[in-house]
Amino acid sequence: MSRSPSIPDRPRLDLDPEMSPAERLSELRKHFKRLLSVNEELETRLDEATDQRSELHEKVNHLKERNEALKTAALYIATVEELTDDGNVVIKQHGNNQEVLTEVSPELEDKLESGDRVAINESFGIQQVLDDETDARAQAMEVSESPDVIYDDIGGIDDQITEVREAVEDPIENPEQFDTVGIEPPSGVLLHGPPGTGKTMLAKAVANESDATFIKMTGSELVQKFIGEGARLVRDLFSLAAEREPAVVFIDEIDAVASKRTDSKTSGDAEVQRTMMQLLSEMDGFDERGEIQLMAATNRFDMLDEALLRPGRFDRLIEVPKPNAEGRERILDIHSEEINVATDVDFADLAADLDGYSGADIESLVTEAGMFAIRDDRTTVTREDIDDAHEKLDSNETDDGVVRYRH
Ligand code: ATP
Repeated sequence: MSRSPSIPDRPRLDLDPEMSPAERLSELRKHFKRLLSVNEELETRLDEATDQRSELHEKVNHLKERNEALKTAALYIATVEELTDDGNVVIKQHGNNQEVLTEVSPELEDKLESGDRVAINESFGIQQVLDDETDARAQAMEVSESPDVIYDDIGGIDDQITEVREAVEDPIENPEQFDTVGIEPPSGVLLHGPPGTGKTMLAKAVANESDATFIKMTGSELVQKFIGEGARLVRDLFSLAAEREPAVVFIDEIDAVASKRTDSKTSGDAEVQRTMMQLLSEMDGFDERGEIQLMAATNRFDMLDEALLRPGRFDRLIEVPKPNAEGRERILDIHSEEINVATDVDFADLAADLDGYSGADIESLVTEAGMFAIRDDRTTVTREDIDDAHEKLDSNETDDGVVRYRH
């Protein structure tokens, strides 16, 4: 805004008492003319000031409206992908992954960096740069200093426990051993097998027993809940592990982000691809990371992209199958440890009847049998309760009416 020019000087009238009347008259006429011109000048100034005032009024109203809009309108969240040389930015809206080229207001221009989260309005104008500190990281990951699972809690997969200990626990606890022999420890361990067989338990137990922080991320959640943030969260996952080492990083349902490439070119697929590329590049730069052990699990081994299984990536594959009868008996023991089971219940006989049951199924069975005993006001679980629970689980209906599918 320009500064108003100074107010013109008031014209002075100097009448000499010696003047003749004609001279006075002429002086007064001149004075009158000067007054007229000053008056004219002041009128122009007044007009200008009035214009300026209405202009400022307009601006105030506009800012008020913008302020209201900012306060009330819901804004969308996007991530800045790229800053172009001509001061525009490419943003990607979360939720639908739409990529848009948009202009940036001069106030925000210097503040933006690629990777920033921003709030945008309906016409994709960037309204705010959001704080970098986001709770998405906390939401997407489960972090535990010492998970409460030990190897003895896991039944029926003793060979797998031994293999995991060699591949994960030994490199954390005795790295010199590998140096001496001159071999590289496996860079990643992939557990594969049917659901509910104890893969997550194994990862937790190995973290616990080697005093490492357990950091878990679930592939399917990454794809469904954190659309647009996958690659960033994978980056965060590894940097969090580096902060907390020794650490066991466990990616459950890895098939959700690392399936064989499909031909479809939807933006969702592109997003999944980006997440997987980030994962691969983090794994490739992994050597220098020290005491971080990477584990993953999948129920869909057949779906995995082979790029993930190359040497230096997930190069130790461990199959975790459903337990056999002996394993089922052990799991029954584990899960009924705290439960009052009638002495005549023969677990070996029961285990033989539970063909096809996973560890998780057996846990549900025991809980369900306990519910039958409670309903009957008993403190002991009988074989009959277990048989009723067995029948009920096979028909997929649980007490609360929720259909729980047997694995
Ligand atoms: P998913 O593939 O569905 O993630 P998972 O193989 O990771 O399954 P877990 O999450 O480890 O399975 O197991 C779920 C629950 O089932 C455990 O909390 C545990 O109570 C029980 N369970 C599963 N397997 C075993 C086992 N081998 N021994 C004892 N309990 C088990």
